[in-house]
Formats: sequence, C-alpha cells, structure tokens
Amino acid sequence: MSTLDTRPLAAPAAAAEGLAPEAASKMLRKVGLKVTRSRLAMLDLLARRQTHMSADEITDTLREEGHAVDRVTVYRNLDKMLDRDLLAMVYIPGRAMRVGLRRNPGSPHHHFIVCEKTGRVEELDTCFLQECWDYAAQRIQEKSGWELTGHVMQYVGVAPDSAGGNGKSQSR
Ligand SMILES: [Zn+2]
Repeated sequence: MSTLDTRPLAAPAAAAEGLAPEAASKMLRKVGLKVTRSRLAMLDLLARRQTHMSADEITDTLREEGHAVDRVTVYRNLDKMLDRDLLAMVYIPGRAMRVGLRRNPGSPHHHFIVCEKTGRVEELDTCFLQECWDYAAQRIQEKSGWELTGHVMQYVGVAPDSAGGNGKSQSR
C-alpha cells in the first residue's frame, strides 16, 4: 500500500485548549452541518493538538479516548468538514495527507506554508499569485489551450522555530 511516512507530527510544546461543544456546535451550524458527537470530538481533538493529523491518527486517538468512532465515520465527517472549509488538508512532502482546523474558517481564498522539518502549518490569507493572475492565466492558456478558473497551491519552507533552523542566514 502506501509508503508515505504516517508518523504523527510533533505537537507544539504547550498544551492547547480544546474546542468546547458550544463553540464547535456553533461552527458546524454556521456552515450548515448537523451537530453530531463525532464531529464535536474531531473538532475538539484538532483544536487540542494544534497540528494537522492524518485520518488514521484522528480515528486511533479518538478511540483511545473512548469515543465510539470508526474509520468510515471519521473519513465521511472529514470530507464534509473539508467541503465546508472548517478544515483544510495539507500535503507535507513524503507524508500522508493531513487535516487541521482552519484558522479563519470559511474565508474563501487561502494558502498554507508547511515547514518541511517539523510539519508545522501556517495559514496565509495573502495570495501573491492573485496579483499576477491575468498574466499567469494568459500564459498558461497559450501553452495548454486550457482556460484557467483557479489554483490550488501550498508553500513549503522552514519555520523560524524549527529545531536547528535551516543553517542559512536570514539575509534577504
Ligand atoms: Zn492563491
């Protein structure tokens, strides 16, 4: 099957507060999703971890914590919450896909920057591609014949707090 690295990402040192059921319920209702015990538990877990997790990690952790969830339920709920922009999926090179809470749920256009050393994810609401969109869209159409309607991308880098840094100076 998969040869991807599925080890959990390092969680931040400080324990984070979870998401109280009232707050999580509000988030779900706001995007038109039914409030269920599984969804509340998943949102709370992702808030506590403050990092992106694979679907298997989410399932295993919730089961260890005594929640009656199975993989199918978790996958199905992840799909729904991804679809409504409550969660976002990130690709970390060489690792399984992971999901985490959006910092700004529901905001339409965003990108992530992922630390290639620690897997830490930062959400950016700035899109530099948007500034040169017309140019890019035209060039790509010329080359491929396709009409562009949007883009999906993710930055990869080294976070300032990643252990050891990248060994390079910060000059720019
Ligand atoms: Zn963009």
